[in-house]
Amino acid sequence: TDGRGIFKVYSPEMGNKMRRYHYLLEELRLAIACHNFHLSFQPIVHVEDCAIDYFEALVRWDHPVEGTISPVEFIPIAEESNLILELGDWIMLESCRQMAAWHNAGMRKVKISVNISGIQLKHRPIHEWVMKKLAKTGLPATSLMLEITESTLITASETIINELEKLRKEGVTIAIDDFGTGFSSLSTLADLPIDVIKIDRLFIAQANENPKYNEILNSISELGTKLGLKIVAEGVEEIAQFDLVKRMGISCVQGYLVSRPQSSVNVGSKVLQGNVN
Ligand code: C2E
Ligand code: CA
Ligand code: CA
Ligand code: CA
Repeated sequence: TDGRGIFKVYSPEMGNKMRRYHYLLEELRLAIACHNFHLSFQPIVHVEDCAIDYFEALVRWDHPVEGTISPVEFIPIAEESNLILELGDWIMLESCRQMAAWHNAGMRKVKISVNISGIQLKHRPIHEWVMKKLAKTGLPATSLMLEITESTLITASETIINELEKLRKEGVTIAIDDFGTGFSSLSTLADLPIDVIKIDRLFIAQANENPKYNEILNSISELGTKLGLKIVAEGVEEIAQFDLVKRMGISCVQGYLVSRPQSSVNVGSKVLQGNVN
């Protein structure tokens, strides 16, 4: 019992999970203090000519013993502990710094896109916070995109929506991420402060087998285009998926078929060769 006469049932597996959680939480504090992270960059390309539209910055944890730890494992822990605030400061500054360097090396048309957690929107005055990072690194606002998940956007307060609207006026692009997983109706798209829809990879994975998903993809593409939004299909792994997305009039794709996330060194050398502008 736990001392109050209440039985707690722990399976060994739960114990392991909790130990891992607390271990990572403690390690995360240390890693943030020591900046033991790096960014990986995945290109999003135009369907019609495969030219790069933007790079998504994806964080990786360089752990001295565990090796690289996936954000799928540590971002939720960082969010529950609010450590995402400090980590998010580093991610935004590093993303802007890197893009400003590539910008100066000749990559002028390509934007950098940064994932923003709902916790950050709640605790940071997001307009001022972003503008400070831009000023500090010299990156133009028009070279920055923010990715915010559908579930965060549809539950965002009016204050947050206004902050995002102010950022759009500065020239920052806003994308709704993992679209289709947050159960908002298609009509809410018209009211949100967004420029880009990223369709969750679940839909792309299912579309060729399941006609229902195919229909949903079609509707998103049609309405999004009518609303003047750019549409990105995530998780395109196969030629058949690429072709399907193209037939539906979706303008951009992201996925292993085109490129896995790459190191900054890889991207940088392509910029210097003039292969990315
Ligand atoms: P996300 O924002 O949906 O990012 C896309 C994820 O899909 C990335 O995983 C990317 O590597 C993966 N991906 C890209 N193409 C394919 C494909 O063709 N097939 C498959 N199966 N996967 C593909 P990653 O880098 O492991 O990131 C996972 C999630 O962790 C992200 O999902 C995002 O929610 C979160 N995350 C990553 N970096 C950051 C960050 O800097 N800040 C915040 N707040 N969250 C982040
Ligand atoms: Ca994203
Ligand atoms: Ca996504
Ligand atoms: Ca996702």
